[in-house]
This record gives sequence, C-alpha cells and structure tokens, in this order.
Amino acid sequence: MNIVFVSSEVAPYAKTGGLGDVVGALPRYLRKLGHDVRVFMPLYASIDTARHPISPLGDPFVVTLGSHRYHVRIATSDADPGMYFVHSPELYARGALYTADPDEHRRFLALGWAALMTLQRLQFSPDVLHCHDWQTGLLPLTLKTAFAWDRLFSATKTVLTIHNNMYQGVFPASTLSDTNLAADRHLFHHDQLTHPDGGRINYLLHGILYAGGVTTVSPTYAKEIQRETLGAGLDPFLRARRSTVVGILNGVDYDEWSPEKDTHIPHRYAADDLSGKEENKQALLQALGLPYYPNVPVVGIVSRMASQKGFDLLAGLMPDLLRRHGFQLTVLGSGEPHLEQMFSSFQRAFPSQVCFYQGFSNPLAHLIEAGADIFLMPSRYEPCGLNQMYSLRYGTVPVVHRTGGLADSVTPWNPISSRGDGFVFEHHDQIGLRWALETALATYRDPIAWRRLMLNGMAKDFSWERQVKLYELVYQRLEN
Ligand code: ADP
Repeated sequence: MNIVFVSSEVAPYAKTGGLGDVVGALPRYLRKLGHDVRVFMPLYASIDTARHPISPLGDPFVVTLGSHRYHVRIATSDADPGMYFVHSPELYARGALYTADPDEHRRFLALGWAALMTLQRLQFSPDVLHCHDWQTGLLPLTLKTAFAWDRLFSATKTVLTIHNNMYQGVFPASTLSDTNLAADRHLFHHDQLTHPDGGRINYLLHGILYAGGVTTVSPTYAKEIQRETLGAGLDPFLRARRSTVVGILNGVDYDEWSPEKDTHIPHRYAADDLSGKEENKQALLQALGLPYYPNVPVVGIVSRMASQKGFDLLAGLMPDLLRRHGFQLTVLGSGEPHLEQMFSSFQRAFPSQVCFYQGFSNPLAHLIEAGADIFLMPSRYEPCGLNQMYSLRYGTVPVVHRTGGLADSVTPWNPISSRGDGFVFEHHDQIGLRWALETALATYRDPIAWRRLMLNGMAKDFSWERQVKLYELVYQRLEN
C-alpha cells in the first residue's frame, strides 16, 4: 500500500509525548512489511538539521488559506527516506511546537495542504492518508472537497488516530474562511458553527465525522471516549461511528527501550541476570545526589506535569507515605507550576529521600526506568502511556490507575497464583493510590514474590512487530 502520514510530531525530530513516538516508529514497521510510507511534519526551528541533515525537494510553492498566503519549501531527510519536512519559517519558527498564537489553526492546516500539494507534485497516489490528532482533523474533509477533482486521490481512504481526545483544536467560526472550505459550510457541524459563543469549529470532531476510520491508542481508551466521563463532548459522535472506532495499543521501540542494549544506562542487564539493576539504582541515586541504602525501594516518575497525570492525589498523601515507609522518590518532569512546586516541596521536606529533576532529559528517563524499583503512574486518564510499558521491560514494577492503556498493559499482581506484573487501583482517589503503593512496598519486602513480579513484566511483549499488523487490518477495512 501507499501510505501517507501527516503529523505535528515525529520522533526523533520533534516530540512532546507519545504522538511523536508513535509516528516515529509505526512508519518504519509498515515499511518492513513492504508498504511505501511517506511522512510529513513541519520543519520546526527546534529541529537540529546538523544532526538530521535535509535537502530541498522541488521548487517552493504557495499554500493559500483564505486570504493568507504562505511560501513553503519541502525538504527531505538525507538519512530517513520517506520523511518530508514542510519549511515555512513564518509558520514554524516559534519558541514551541504548539502555541496560543492567533494563527495556530492555520499553522497545521498549512501542513496538511502542503502535504497534499506535494503528493500532487510527486504524483504519489496514497491508498491511505493517516491523520493524527486535531492538527490534521480537517484533512479528511479537505481531501473529499477541495481535492476531490484530482483523480490522484480517487482511491485514497483516510484514518484518524486520536492520541488524546482532550486536545480538540477548537477555533472561532470566524476562521471558517481560513479553511478554504467556506463553500462547504453545510458539511461543518451545524450546532458548533451556530454555538451561542459566536460559533466554533472543532477540528478533531470533523476528523471523527469524515475519516474513513478512527483509531485510538488502546482498546480501553477506545471504549472510555465513547462514554460521557472521558468523551469530552465527542462521545456521541464516536458512539455513532462505533463500528469503525478501533483501539490499538501503542508498540514499544525495544531498540531504544531494552535493558540489554540501552546505551543511556551504565549497567546493562537482562531477565537471566538482574545484578545490573541494583548497580543502576546506585548510579541513579548518585546522579541525583541521594544516599543509597540496600533494600530501601526507589519509586520513579517520568512524566509531563499535567493534571491528566493525576499527581494531585499525591499532595496530601506523599509526605505521610514517605515518613511511614522510608522509601525514596526520584521524579523527572516539567509542566504545570503547581505540580512542579509540589514535587519541589517534597524534596525540601525529605532531602535524603526525594529528588525532583525539573526538565526534559531522555538519558535520565532511561536511568530512572533502569534504576527505580517501582514506577508510579496515577493518571486520571491515559490514552496509552508508554512509560508503564518501558517499566515492565526494565523490571520496574508499575503502580497505576486502571484506565486506558494502563489497564491494557499492566496485569494486577495476584500473590496466590504469582501471576501479574504490577499494582492497579480502581478508583482515582487517595485511598486507591495508598492501597496500591503500600501493597507494592509490602510486596517488595518479599524478595521471591518481587523477583517473580519483575520477571513477569520483563517477559511481556509490546513490540511494534505485533501492533503494526493491527494497523494493516484497519487500513484494509477503511470506509470510503
Ligand atoms: P504523554 O504522551 O501523555 O506525554 P506517554 O507516556 O505516552 O505520555 O509518553 C511520554 C513520552 O515522553 C515517553 O517516551 C517519556 O519517556 C517521555 N517523557 C515525558 N516526560 C519526560 C521528561 N521530562 N524527560 C524525558 N522524557 C520524558
């Protein structure tokens, strides 16, 4: 199949979370199955073109969105065939990938238009146009209307993957003319355009309405977003299309995340020799300036600091747990100031037990996965989540809330059967979290049970080789 991805993030070029990881990996695995996959993303100013050399492709052209004209150039990656960057400093040379600037909707509409116009120049006829998140939400409708004249796309089917349905791309209805779809106004959701707030356009909603299929990043999340609690207003539309809504758990890139071959950690280890894990624990504590005590468990967190991640539960709870149980806590992340301040206050109150490293550091993320004993992810909701799957592979036992991809990847520990690989709490409250963490800490004191838990997790396989076949099936079954 000829497959085209359009995405606002692609690892390793630019990522803020799981979206970048998925679009960085999935095309590679589709290519291994023989498909021709082309990937389009913006050439953000932050992309290091010295590390990732690129070459211009063809002549510059103009993308017109309403009354706005953007001069764009396409560049291809020298080392990553099939990777296309849309170069337009006016749109993408900003301080961050995402902004609250008034042209935010046009920045990503232009990406989609530039991708389709490049396909026309290349005369590349896609069987599948794979869109991701709100940034590409209007692309299926655009293809069906503004590009319908071009027979190049007559067999093209579209699919939208929702990586997080809380980010929907909602803009005032006054921006309709910027979409180049004003003549197709009747195809926009009427209630939205005439909303009492002056009207709005919800990009993700229109992707759900017009894509040939909708996927999301775990089977449980696919069900959750069809209910009111986590539907964020999109649940009725997802329910209406329930036969085409599919949840596929993200794969893990085990070339990057395996303790046997991880180049970011000082001591490599494997299920048949776990000795390196304890050495990594010492290295982690030393790197963060914490003392090492044998048999004192280390709890790790690597996360965006966002309310989605559920850390507010820790506020009243963590000081009491640290005092009672004497474990250590290593935290890496940045985001909302009140959450950063909370972790800083834990560090101040428990200087030999807690270290909070505020920032983004891939090497430290690897070292925490390898060096911690327990990995904490109390997410309120979690479309897929990758860190709990990395943790399982590193023998770092996850403590998670039963939601989304956490529910699909972590199996609750059963001390009678010795099955399971983590601790899963049902209700998102302090009682649930306390129960799960205290049960994990108590189980840690039983070395035989703990070893079994670690090995159960390390034996699990979330590789892309398996998941890519599920995407192939979705592509084959897309509606027109
Ligand atoms: P989300 O997409 O909601 O942020 P995921 O668990 O799906 O959550 O993916 C997060 C990815 O970003 C993982 O690869 C994780 O290791 C990485 N990550 C998150 N925060 C940091 C950080 N502060 N430093 C390094 N890596 C981080």
